[in-house]
Amino acid sequence: MKIVLLGAPGAGKGSQAELITKEYGIPHISTGDAFRSNIKAGTEIGLYAKSFMDKGLLVPDEVTVKIVEARLSQGDCASGFMLDGFPRSLVQAEFLDKITALDCVLNISVPFDVILKRLSGRRSCSCGAIYNTDSHKSDSCLKCGNTLFIRDDDKEEAIKKRLEVYQAITAPLVDYYAQKGILSTVIGAETILDTFSLVKNTLDLVWKKG
Ligand code: AMP
Repeated sequence: MKIVLLGAPGAGKGSQAELITKEYGIPHISTGDAFRSNIKAGTEIGLYAKSFMDKGLLVPDEVTVKIVEARLSQGDCASGFMLDGFPRSLVQAEFLDKITALDCVLNISVPFDVILKRLSGRRSCSCGAIYNTDSHKSDSCLKCGNTLFIRDDDKEEAIKKRLEVYQAITAPLVDYYAQKGILSTVIGAETILDTFSLVKNTLDLVWKKG
């Protein structure tokens, strides 16, 4: 099963991706995670990507598609994968079409006010865990005990920019994939598990077909 998760920042793509990986056993490919691990490792790509990410901008297509191309050419992606946060532009979507055929693009749709609340309350841990101040009041990570922090791209100015960029550059992909007949939209306004039961209903059908 080859799927793409589409949705605005804060729509819950990362949380759904974790559950989808467990349920269907397909590799999870997140360009955001790939950039963050490059930043952590201090690579040239990481340094370059950070200058865009911190401002809430997209990392240029040329760099992003290379990362995805390299990852998709690895053996574990041959029979399926889930892309989370890629494609985010028409250029990236057209590139993906050239190298593979997708089974399903799952669009997680969440009302704007819910997105804003999620992003501004988001707290991250260096181990990769993510919390929201709504449900997690402490500033320590439950998994490793480290102190939580606000990602540079979760700061107010960057959030504004990310949402603008989403509307202008990424949202048109919803129509792009609808026209190809492979788009399924689920509403992701409730809890992670509520959304996952909708996601699972959709993906079970795709899984059976594949
Ligand atoms: P995410 O964790 O998916 O929200 O991604 C964090 C940041 O990484 C984004 O705000 C972008 O700056 C960058 N990024 C992730 N995926 C892409 C992509 N497909 N194209 C360009 N930039 C990306």
